[in-house]
Amino acid sequence: MDTIHLNEWGFVSNKPFVIAGPCSVETPQQLDATVGQLVEKGIQVIRGGVWKPRTRPNSFEGVGEIALPWIKDVKQKYGVKFATEVATPYHVEKALKFGMDILWVGARSTVNPFTVQEIANALKGVDIPVLVKNPVNPDVALWIGALERLNQAGIKKLGAIHRGFSNFNDHTYRNSPLWQIPLELKTRYPYLPLINDPSHICGKRDLIQMIAQMALDLDMEGLIIESHIRPDEAWSDAAQQVTPDALNVLLSQLHVPSPSA
Ligand code: PEP
Ligand code: MN
Repeated sequence: MDTIHLNEWGFVSNKPFVIAGPCSVETPQQLDATVGQLVEKGIQVIRGGVWKPRTRPNSFEGVGEIALPWIKDVKQKYGVKFATEVATPYHVEKALKFGMDILWVGARSTVNPFTVQEIANALKGVDIPVLVKNPVNPDVALWIGALERLNQAGIKKLGAIHRGFSNFNDHTYRNSPLWQIPLELKTRYPYLPLINDPSHICGKRDLIQMIAQMALDLDMEGLIIESHIRPDEAWSDAAQQVTPDALNVLLSQLHVPSPSA
């Protein structure tokens, strides 16, 4: 794969590279308040779901494209970069139109080569970072295949997100980490940035610190963590979100291994 490391993406200086923000963009007020507090804590790249893939129908499926102008406003107001999930060519078109800085392919899309190819086709000629979450099932080839489809469409600022794998009876994790799968990816593509998503692995906020530390100890280069101004009132993934204050404490307690360690 012909990829550009995140040190050369032009805006990533902190180690670990941290993306934080709400599971879902809910209202202009929730977005502004959350981003404002995250920026106070030094976060420069915000995440926020606009279109949400939900397991069951009749759950909150994201507010949709009405969120895009709200995102544009906070980007201007706070000078942050913004990342969101895209699952269709229409999402790609709309997100790019509103100046999205980073896109990611979700775990439920990575499993489907047709979907990934359609997203890749819609991204031809686009030069922004695209992150690919691992598929919901523990299949490293499917993960690599999705990355390759994007790379072959010309995406060079490519990264992988480890968000854990569906399970039936793991009572500890929402998505089992199965560390050997991201480590296999890392062995094969040492240059490809690997970002850990402890929020979706853990499913509950208490475990996030431990999983984030394990990811850093395994030499992963970034973290994507869900943070909401009032986590318990979040419209999706309430149990795993943390306040910007709690995120700050969590990040300050992480030990970042030195390269020679
Ligand atoms: C998310 O990031 O909010 C999300 C839905 O993630 P995943 O694709 O990992 O389930
Ligand atoms: Mn979520």
